Amino acid sequence: MKKLLALSMVAVMAATSMIGCGKTEKNANGTVKEGKLIMATNAEFPPYEFRDGDKIVGIDAEIAEAIASKLGLTLQIEDMAFDSIITAVSGGKVDIGVAGMTVTKERLKNVNFSDSYATGIQAIIVKEGSDITTVDDLFAEGTNHKIGVQTGTTGDIYCSGDAEDAGCGTVEKYNKGADAVLALTTGKIDCVVIDKQPAIEFVKANEGLVILDTEYAIEDYAICIAKNNDVLTKKVNDALKELKDEGKLQEIIDKYIKAE
Ligand code: GLN
Repeated sequence: MKKLLALSMVAVMAATSMIGCGKTEKNANGTVKEGKLIMATNAEFPPYEFRDGDKIVGIDAEIAEAIASKLGLTLQIEDMAFDSIITAVSGGKVDIGVAGMTVTKERLKNVNFSDSYATGIQAIIVKEGSDITTVDDLFAEGTNHKIGVQTGTTGDIYCSGDAEDAGCGTVEKYNKGADAVLALTTGKIDCVVIDKQPAIEFVKANEGLVILDTEYAIEDYAICIAKNNDVLTKKVNDALKELKDEGKLQEIIDKYIKAE
């Protein structure tokens, strides 16, 4: 009898600590670690996040820094593969994912998104003189282009869905956008579908590449937060709103993206 009681006590304790572990709202700010705001990103996405020496800088890093400062928290940045960010956020390893991340219905099943802080465009990079001159050329019947994308991004999701399923293209996945662009310059693939601002940076850094005038898709960038972490979601949204109202958000964007 005693043994049974002791066993059930252990079971209750185990269950309680499991709830404790699985919960991401650990303190009044709803963050994983007291006093910190831990951000996951993939520092391969200029001008939103990239390395300057050993520092991670860019629009997202500065927005997150400004949010952390409004919440009285110290920002800590964790660099990881883009397709690991949602798992890190939903698993409670980090507090937020800030990575030029597009809001999609699929992702909303696993994470919360803040209000949007920027617009993203899926652009197409080709070599000068390419037979691909518009988005429609990519999906024309009888074509079979090799399309480079960064794994797990919306460019990957759209192209895998649109071109591959329609049988008019093959999608080649790369860990970094820069690797996809390198494959394009060496003629391994015919185009790269990637977000427009990084596209501009990659084209600047490589000769003989152009961005098509027609865009593939227009999207909203937002910060992802663990599902059901309404405390932190509200705090992030309130901070974002203040940054918008103060003009600080635009100031950060303008610092990295010069008007064309
Ligand atoms: N906006 C794209 C997405 O969310 C790509 C983001 C990225 O590569 N950092 O999928």
